[in-house]
Amino acid sequence: MSPNGESRLRARGLTAGYGGTEILHGIDTDIPAGRITALIGPNGCGKSTLLSCFSTLLPYRGGVLLDDRDLRSVPRRERARLLALLPQQPTAPDGLTVAQLVARGRHPHQTWWSQWSTRDEAEVGRALETTGVPDLADRTLDQLSGGQRQRVWIAMTLAQDTPTLLLDEPTTYLDLAHSIDVLSLVRRLCDEEGKTIVMVLHDLNLAVRYADHLLVMGEGRIAATGTPDEVMDADLLRNVFGLEARVVPDPVTGGPMIVPELA
Ligand code: ADP
Ligand code: MG
Repeated sequence: MSPNGESRLRARGLTAGYGGTEILHGIDTDIPAGRITALIGPNGCGKSTLLSCFSTLLPYRGGVLLDDRDLRSVPRRERARLLALLPQQPTAPDGLTVAQLVARGRHPHQTWWSQWSTRDEAEVGRALETTGVPDLADRTLDQLSGGQRQRVWIAMTLAQDTPTLLLDEPTTYLDLAHSIDVLSLVRRLCDEEGKTIVMVLHDLNLAVRYADHLLVMGEGRIAATGTPDEVMDADLLRNVFGLEARVVPDPVTGGPMIVPELA
């Protein structure tokens, strides 16, 4: 919970899966408002599945509350103005330009009487600037490097201009310098615009550095929640990730830093 006790997203007894296979087994958790939550856990533990439930892409049992409302009772367009998801493997039709893709983020804000406003134009421009890709606006997606494409997808998610962002591995395809760029951007969106962010991160050291709140999952259950200082230790790494590692003070931040033992 954030210091003022606000929670933007809550899961209560959240259970979901694919076909007959249950993946999430009754998740209870609160996502603090106006903070960065890093969702971490080993491959296949259900992180993307949880984000799919939070964005109602996947049916679930139990409850998800968004600003104290049952998520399923919020009309789809309104939901898309409140919450944006950047999936782990987003797809777009062939031949779309960067500008056209980012403009798609504005769909939930458009109406039949006002299809494309100066506000939409401004938000698309702002999203392209913020992610550092305005020069790419007229290129098609297949003319981009993996890193450029990832930034363009983030721009589309930002153009949706929602108070809550769900980012599934936003630093995929990015080298360390570009990863830091994106995470610093996420930090700014949180600090300056008060956005609530949930992001799945693979790199545990980046997760503990950039998150205010850690949500650690193991095999479809919550293994731990709290600040990185509270949560990250050698026992957690061993029990949840099967990793032998030391947790030492980060020489830059003083927070926890994970140093794996030699195998
Ligand atoms: P994570 O994001 O933590 O790596 P996922 O949520 O993607 O994990 O996957 C959790 C489990 O659900 C895995 O066992 C995966 O194989 C399975 N799974 C994910 N997506 C599907 C799907 N569309 N159909 C069937 N099983 C799936
Ligand atoms: Mg995933």
